[in-house]
Amino acid sequence: MARIAIIGGGPAGLMAAEAASERGAAVTVFEAMPTAGRKLLMAGKSGLNITHAEAREQFDTRYGSAQARLQAALDGFSPQAVREWCAGLGGETFVGSSDRVFPRAMKASPLLRAWLRRLAEQGVSLRTRHRWQGFDGDALVFDTPDGRVTERFDATVLALGGASWPELGSDAAWIPWLAERGVKITPFRPANCGFEVDWSPVFVDRFAGQPVKAVKATSDAGSLAGEFVVNAWGIEGSLVYAHSAALRDRLERDGSASLRLDLVPGRTEERLARDLARQQAKASFSNRLRKGTGLDGVKLALVRELVPDAAALDPVRLAHAIKNLLLPLKRTRSLEEAISSAGGIGWADLDDSLMLKSLPGIFAAGEMLDWEAPTGGYLLTACFATGRLAGIGAARYVRGE
Ligand SMILES: Cc1cc2nc3c(=O)[nH]c(=O)nc-3n(C[C@H](O)[C@H](O)[C@H](O)COP(=O)(O)OP(=O)(O)OC[C@H]3O[C@@H](n4cnc5c(N)ncnc54)[C@H](O)[C@@H]3O)c2cc1C
Repeated sequence: MARIAIIGGGPAGLMAAEAASERGAAVTVFEAMPTAGRKLLMAGKSGLNITHAEAREQFDTRYGSAQARLQAALDGFSPQAVREWCAGLGGETFVGSSDRVFPRAMKASPLLRAWLRRLAEQGVSLRTRHRWQGFDGDALVFDTPDGRVTERFDATVLALGGASWPELGSDAAWIPWLAERGVKITPFRPANCGFEVDWSPVFVDRFAGQPVKAVKATSDAGSLAGEFVVNAWGIEGSLVYAHSAALRDRLERDGSASLRLDLVPGRTEERLARDLARQQAKASFSNRLRKGTGLDGVKLALVRELVPDAAALDPVRLAHAIKNLLLPLKRTRSLEEAISSAGGIGWADLDDSLMLKSLPGIFAAGEMLDWEAPTGGYLLTACFATGRLAGIGAARYVRGE
């Protein structure tokens, strides 16, 4: 029986294992950590947004410049297929807010347990604490609790993840081993990340940790409504992540970037100016601002923090400032803290089955490939889909197809 190695026991690797084993190969999954799927479990802590229910044409655009290269993988394992697959493991899904799809259990552990059980029943062998250390000729080298071992396989799927949250296993240590063999790797950068801001100490003291809800934010990514969190070093949260690729790119290009906030998206600028003008002239500025805008707490403090001369502005200018509050960003938070990473193995080095052109029989899948997407279930969907495509490719390769 042909033997296939899958290196990396995350969503992409386990899906590759499932697809290859269904096609009759003897599959071994090698995982560096003591257990598989640690990042999947971490994703489950926020409910496990496993895919998205928007129309396919819209869904596919979320992968930006990688859309065309991910098409075949997504055709083979669509968002709907993700939901059916989940249900097959006893994890019925539902469509939550903004069309995000979650398992009813709102966590990953039951799903991962059922998946690992089914893989074992299917004959997939999982070897944890096996850290791949590169190649020895055409053999794979692993560090194991019993020392270094070298093994040969008929095909291999690499599914080692990106470079965020390295403590969960994906530490990108593989880059030099592939680069030495001529594979071009786009440097990893933070994606779905927070941004550092020069807050005043007073603002941090009073408001670090507070959510800023129901605002609109604008960047090169467009205008989006949502919420984010202010913390001691800057800003993070879903609305910031949605803008993060655009803001990161602008910071890299121009050396500076700002997120434009509309703190009162429900009112026009003219209406807000009228409401501010109606306030009693003898009232304190704080009271005029609060009553005229309806803002309080952290939102009110943001106006004061970001518009130091706010008290001196007439209602028209003040309304304009509140609906166009420029929040200057210093830099992205580190790659290690980002939800995901951009960059990875370049598409020019991969064929349509995700085999590395310079390394016949070696396939790659998941976040280690050069694509990025916002949060919303797009990350896991593409990891599953590319894992499946690579697993099928490896199974066909060993059959000489
Ligand atoms: C906090 C957080 C929340 C998230 N929430 C969501 C969400 O709700 N929805 C969503 O779609 N996505 C979410 N993601 C992203 C998603 O979890 C990842 O995109 C996905 O897990 C990547 O899958 P992967 O299989 O490519 O890599 P990983 O899940 O990183 O798996 C790679 C595996 O390879 C192993 N490995 C690495 N190097 C070696 C080696 N040398 N030898 C052997 N094994 C090795 C690692 O230990 C790891 O188990 C979240 C991520 C984080 C950090």
